[in-house]
Amino acid sequence: MERCPNCRARWDGAEHCRRCGLELAPLLAAEHAAHRLIVRALRHMGEGETQTALADLTRARDIYREPFIDLLCGFARAETWGETHLGELSDMRTTQGAAEVEVG
Ligand SMILES: [Zn+2]
Repeated sequence: MERCPNCRARWDGAEHCRRCGLELAPLLAAEHAAHRLIVRALRHMGEGETQTALADLTRARDIYREPFIDLLCGFARAETWGETHLGELSDMRTTQGAAEVEVG
C-alpha cells in the first residue's frame, strides 16, 4: 500500500492514516494474504498446475484489488485455455493422422 484508500495520503508505515486516521492494519493484512497467494500461484504456474494457480489468483483478487493480479489472472486463464484447446488440437491431429493411415 502506497496511499491511504480513503484520503490518498502517502502511507508512512503506521497502522493508522496520518491524515484521516483510517485504521490500515486490516487492509495491510489483506494485502499480505493476497501476496502470499500470488507467490503460491506463481509456484503452481512453474509446476504446470495452472488450474490451481488460477484458483489462488482468483482468491487473491477477491481479497485485494490490484491491476497486477488481474493481469496474472488473464495470463493463467490463457495458459489454461491453451492446455485445454491445444490438447484437443493435438488429439484431433492424432485422430486425423490415424484416419489417414487407415485410408492410405
Ligand atoms: Zn487517510
